[in-house]
Amino acid sequence: MRVKLVAGNWKMNGSLASSQALIKAVLPPLAALGRARYAVCAPFPQLTTLAQALRGANVALGAQDLCPFENGAYTGGVSGAMLADCGCRYVIVGHSERRSVFGDTDETVALKFGQALRHGLTPILCVGELLTEREAGVTESVVARQLDAVVQRWGWDTLGRSVVAYEPVWAIGTGKTATPQQAQAAHAFIRGRVAAAIRGLAEGLLILYGGSVKASNAAQLFAMPDVDGGLIGAASLVADEFVAICRAAQGAEETVRI
Ligand code: PEP
Repeated sequence: MRVKLVAGNWKMNGSLASSQALIKAVLPPLAALGRARYAVCAPFPQLTTLAQALRGANVALGAQDLCPFENGAYTGGVSGAMLADCGCRYVIVGHSERRSVFGDTDETVALKFGQALRHGLTPILCVGELLTEREAGVTESVVARQLDAVVQRWGWDTLGRSVVAYEPVWAIGTGKTATPQQAQAAHAFIRGRVAAAIRGLAEGLLILYGGSVKASNAAQLFAMPDVDGGLIGAASLVADEFVAICRAAQGAEETVRI
């Protein structure tokens, strides 16, 4: 049985003080929630301090990226080992901003995925199509290509140690959310593709939706059978919004179990 996960992606926002204040505001209400899981993916320089603040809490720590290489002469790189050392459990790989702004290719994303697993981190593998690709009707082939780059290198079974996030690029930071039906269709496609390789794996795989999730639309998205939670950008920076989204995930958990 899959358990819903809500992960905040804070991106390059905030100061150490504002991040600590945000954690302080969300921890008590989230502690009162039940089964669903929660995480925040913070900027690198804040990780060590936030790991202390999250000790014993039901909110895990994640990073937003990592170096595709192990260690050594990679100036500016942050390795999987360093993230594990800082107390991270998750790391986002293949976010569309890394792909479009920083030039991460499918190949680089696959290397980052491998580094995350190697160091005991759970990669949150982002896949998703551009607006032009959706309009051209190639959403499924784009998502399949992005997934295949990882599984061809590491094998389908490695997906079992990861979380997939379907993030249509046209919905990220635009205020334009995929409809629950659009999200469900893409998630069902991803799960079906994994099922064709390893059925049992597909049933347990968490597939998050990301793209302008807010308190006002989270419940409808999380009610979809193949939507296992969300990767939340802007709304994760506002304590009340993030808590409300987490509540929606918890609510969906309870509905499934009635
Ligand atoms: C994201 O950055 O992963 C994201 C989904 O952003 P937003 O929620 O702001 O669209």
